[in-house]
Amino acid sequence: MFTLGIDIGSTTSKCIILEDGKKIISKSLVSDGTGTNGPDVALKEALKKANLKLDDIAYTISTGYGRHSFELADDNKSELSCHAKGVVFTDPEARTIIDIGGQDAKVISLTDDGIINNFLMNDKCAAGTGRFLDVMSNILHIDIKNFGDYALKSEKAASISSTCTVFAESEVISQLSKGVDIYDLVAGICQSVAVRTASLAKRGKIKSKVYMSGGVALNKGIREAISVELNEPIYFVENAQYMGALGAAIFAYNKKHV
Ligand code: ADP
Repeated sequence: MFTLGIDIGSTTSKCIILEDGKKIISKSLVSDGTGTNGPDVALKEALKKANLKLDDIAYTISTGYGRHSFELADDNKSELSCHAKGVVFTDPEARTIIDIGGQDAKVISLTDDGIINNFLMNDKCAAGTGRFLDVMSNILHIDIKNFGDYALKSEKAASISSTCTVFAESEVISQLSKGVDIYDLVAGICQSVAVRTASLAKRGKIKSKVYMSGGVALNKGIREAISVELNEPIYFVENAQYMGALGAAIFAYNKKHV
């Protein structure tokens, strides 16, 4: 039986097709999120890679910011539940999940049975989210994929004192024009996101293992900076950005497999 999970985020659309609730047979990611044709493109791409048609899919669940507007889904589930499901499926020993996406950051605490018992969220301010990093990578002309590598080359992170994205942008431009090393600037930017994430996480209880999910988990500089701030190893999987879609595909399987 094939089930499909689609995570329609603010900036990206991700699909996972599962076989019998266990095996990932296809995945797709399109850099267009809610309000665009990104979800349809991602769906088509995932089906094509698996050599399947929509009729072959037993059940589809959508998640993410745009989950309510995807008509091809049979049902939808919250991002929190889907990220937790995806991460616990990947590693049942996960107890804390830090999910940073394009426009929000969440810290999810899990019980020893892998059930959500608390969550904290920043969805009010771009600082501390992927949006902040994307703005900075644009002004520094660094591809977001390589951003973390720059941070890891720094010997002393520059201090970014502004807590607002708009002011931090001017501050970074000003520091750059004063000749501050670009590696140190990138490290400072990663540190500022890490400080915000850690202060969100520290409002709850942080239990190991701590996993990162969402697109920002792909940024090594951020993973490293958060690990330093929390004094905890940060675990990460290649499929970090697909955890919501994976969780949705598992929920879709559970719905059919009774
Ligand atoms: P959403 O679900 O809100 O659309 P995602 O979880 O897909 O967001 O995360 C998007 C963010 O992930 C982007 O804002 C960007 O900062 C970051 N990102 C995406 N791809 C990469 C990559 N290859 N390396 C580092 N960061 C990345």
